[in-house]
Amino acid sequence: PVRLVWLRNDLRLTDNPALAHACRDEASVVLVVTLTPETWEAHGESAARMGLWRDQLESLQSERERLRLPLKVLRLKRFDDCPKALTELARTLNATEICFNYEYPLNERQRDGAVCAEAEKAGIATRAFHGELIIPPGQVLTGQGGPFKVYTPFSNAWRKRLIDFDQPVLAVPQPRHHRACESDPIPEDLDYTALSYRNDLWPVGEEAISERLNRFVRERVQDYAKKRDFPRTDPDAEGTSRLSPYLTIGALSPRQCMAALRAQCDDPDWLNSSWLNELIWREFYRHLLVAFPGLSRLEPFRPEVEARISWLGEDAAFDAWCRGETGFPIVDAAMKQLLETGWMHNRLRMVVASYLTKLLRVDWRRGADFFMRHLIDADFASNLGGWQWSSSVGADAAPYFRIFNPQTQGEKFDPEGTFVAHWLPELRALTPHKRRQQPGAGAQAGRPEPIIDYRQARQAALNDYQS
Ligand code: FAD
Repeated sequence: PVRLVWLRNDLRLTDNPALAHACRDEASVVLVVTLTPETWEAHGESAARMGLWRDQLESLQSERERLRLPLKVLRLKRFDDCPKALTELARTLNATEICFNYEYPLNERQRDGAVCAEAEKAGIATRAFHGELIIPPGQVLTGQGGPFKVYTPFSNAWRKRLIDFDQPVLAVPQPRHHRACESDPIPEDLDYTALSYRNDLWPVGEEAISERLNRFVRERVQDYAKKRDFPRTDPDAEGTSRLSPYLTIGALSPRQCMAALRAQCDDPDWLNSSWLNELIWREFYRHLLVAFPGLSRLEPFRPEVEARISWLGEDAAFDAWCRGETGFPIVDAAMKQLLETGWMHNRLRMVVASYLTKLLRVDWRRGADFFMRHLIDADFASNLGGWQWSSSVGADAAPYFRIFNPQTQGEKFDPEGTFVAHWLPELRALTPHKRRQQPGAGAQAGRPEPIIDYRQARQAALNDYQS
């Protein structure tokens, strides 16, 4: 028989359950990707993320060829085109089954449902797997059988539940005997847009990625809890793993991360390590997306909180934030990092999101959309979770009255002012270091004046919320 494996955000040959299933016997297997530029545009897919996705797909080529796994590229427009095109391809190749790994946002699930229905009408079987999570959605539930709405009890239950889902990393499948067809070339721009990302910072290929993972768990995971909140200018000195872009396109699976943590770090208490905790946050947000479909429609998790906020539709302030020109050093440095590298440190994501939604009172959806369009690790579930958390409308979010002070955040997490001086060179001459974190620092040297007064903006936000 011939089977199709429809690759999406699971661009790996190792630990890929759909691929392992398709290769379980002697069958010939064909990989297929669907290019849907109109839907990508509607979803605001960033050129950085799609560039990484493209190059990772290309990087699989030599291993794919060795395994006799040809790749077909279906050049379509929208998700809606997938059911017919995939069924047609399966028919042409005499394939009996289409296998894929689930994706959890609503549009993706609807697309997949339509593909299964169309294929089944044509007598072609479909099989789906949870390759993107360690524990599938719906499997970590409260005593009453409902979804958790708060993180800590979720994570405790997740750890207990792990025993039932603690499977080994799946090996790369055995080579096929026959190549079922020829491969298609992968278009440079995926028919989408000019793709670009910092390939010096994010090399592709399963080997390079697994090396980065192993180095992190060998050398840095022990200090993760201590160092994770401090952004660095040198990527190699960063306290966090910087693996999110790979997890987002599925070049790496969370199970591979957990297995490396267990095998490489000598912490017997690995299950309680703070790095695993972050991977569990990733799982939490995906579980929520499935349990609460309104989230995919950008509804707040806590509408009663959002109802008390009046968003100010101020374009000038939003534009200044987007360009990193607010006059608040830590905010501007973070936004410059995003614009130049497609990545931003987690602490800074929280700072800039709080600044935008609470001090500028710009709707969190605008910030989330901007992040989706610029982040190399843009990920619908984690981004939505992060923005709703930061604006206090999310599950287990900080209360609305907790508003980050950008100056003290800078003083605390960039105490030498090294990070701001790197991204805002105008500030380099300023000493002592603390001055670099003051709003308006460097105004004489060409940096903008602060676009708001922190105290007034904070008070206005609190008044609004309490009114
Ligand atoms: P590490 O600290 O090494 O953590 C390991 C992995 O755990 C990460 O690669 C990531 O997959 C996961 N993870 C870590 N923190 C979180 C978190 N808070 N929520 C969910 N998963 C987490 N993450 C994305 O992957 N894509 C996004 O689009 C995204 N948008 C965000 C927007 C906002 C406003 C905020 C506050 C956070 C966002 N995050 C997002 C979460 C987090 O900032 C990144 O996952 C993290 O900075 C990635 O760096 P790292 O790989 O070095 O993480």
